[in-house]
Amino acid sequence: MSPRCAIVGAGLGGFVAYAALRHAGLEPAEIAVLGERPDADPAAAWRVRAAAIRQQRMRSESDGHCAPTSFPGLAVREAVRNGSPGPLLLSACDRYRPSVAEFLNHVDELRDRSGWDESVRQGRIERVAAVAGGFELDGRGPFRHVLVAPGHPGLAVPAKLAGDARTVHAYEPHDYAARVAVVGAGMAAATEWLNALAAGAEVVSVRRREPARRPLNVARPLFSKRGLAGFHATPRAPRAELLRRLGAPSYPPGRSWDAPVERAAREGRFRVTADPGGAEQVICATGFRRGFEHDPLLRRLVGEHGLETEGRWIVLADDSTVPRLTDGTRTLALAGVPAQWAYPAADTLVGMKYVARRFARRVVACPTR
Ligand SMILES: Cc1cc2nc3c(=O)[nH]c(=O)nc-3n(C[C@H](O)[C@H](O)[C@H](O)COP(=O)(O)OP(=O)(O)OC[C@H]3O[C@@H](n4cnc5c(N)ncnc54)[C@H](O)[C@@H]3O)c2cc1C
Repeated sequence: MSPRCAIVGAGLGGFVAYAALRHAGLEPAEIAVLGERPDADPAAAWRVRAAAIRQQRMRSESDGHCAPTSFPGLAVREAVRNGSPGPLLLSACDRYRPSVAEFLNHVDELRDRSGWDESVRQGRIERVAAVAGGFELDGRGPFRHVLVAPGHPGLAVPAKLAGDARTVHAYEPHDYAARVAVVGAGMAAATEWLNALAAGAEVVSVRRREPARRPLNVARPLFSKRGLAGFHATPRAPRAELLRRLGAPSYPPGRSWDAPVERAAREGRFRVTADPGGAEQVICATGFRRGFEHDPLLRRLVGEHGLETEGRWIVLADDSTVPRLTDGTRTLALAGVPAQWAYPAADTLVGMKYVARRFARRVVACPTR
């Protein structure tokens, strides 16, 4: 049996697509997954980052999982295991946040059950080339249907801090010095304020603007059919502007975030400044580089195939396929953060499922193999 489709990138985005393809009836031998890491753990890249900021709970809710159907979510799973309705009650009012351990156990189980390891081959893909009958991936293939899920194109560090010996990125393993500056104001920064304060440090928060406070990383209406329809109907320039605004820092509201900071501020251990000053350690909670141009594979894809772009985004169809390279006989789709043009919250597990289901439908519907 030869592969009917390929996934480039063996992280969570690739894994979610794989689970959807298996659910649609494909066998492991029909799916080639190409990932650059030596291990096949789909959560490997994520695990390191979440561990670096000591993340305990997911920002996503019960439906933030990798399985192909939304139900049963992680709340049901936890409720059944513990014999308690608590998670379901919290989920009913959008207040359930699975623990990181719950999420990672689910990933491990689905990895075993789905046959993922049978399909993963190690290799960094440098070039996706449209050819007769589909796409070649560094000469492998052709594959009629390809989903590219390369994740974020590297960590972002402000230029003036890049060469500073005190600097560490929040997503790299680190401990806390006695006087810490945390640059940034999103979820990672807020997590790091609490971590450093809990470790007994004095914290300065270095920020250019006040963060928005919202539970999810994108406003809830943009996860809904109606909100998404409005987004898809938005002309290109304002759509890019909207995506830029959505990229501004935010973290959830709530006393568990505010109380430790307020207490530390009263004790003189937390303040907001515009500059790290004399801090012993500078933690850059400044996220990732942004835009397809920072990813060599996507940059080359755009350059060689003349793909349409708007600002830092590749222009995609509403189902996250690349219009110029997709028709009734073949599919090129993007997943994860490069799919924001089709789904603003593409870099969430729910967003990955949105893309995955549409990709699986196209693969199954395609008459030729
Ligand atoms: C700390 C943190 C917490 C998060 N918490 C949540 C949360 O609670 N809920 C939620 O929904 N989302 C969350 N997210 C967002 C999202 O789920 C993650 O960013 C997720 O890791 C994205 O998956 P991905 O597959 O797109 O990227 P990754 O997981 O980074 O995987 C991409 C993979 O592709 C590989 N790759 C890249 N280029 C190539 C190439 N050319 N050839 C072969 N392989 C390649 C990489 O090596 C990597 O293994 C969080 C993100 C972070 C950083």
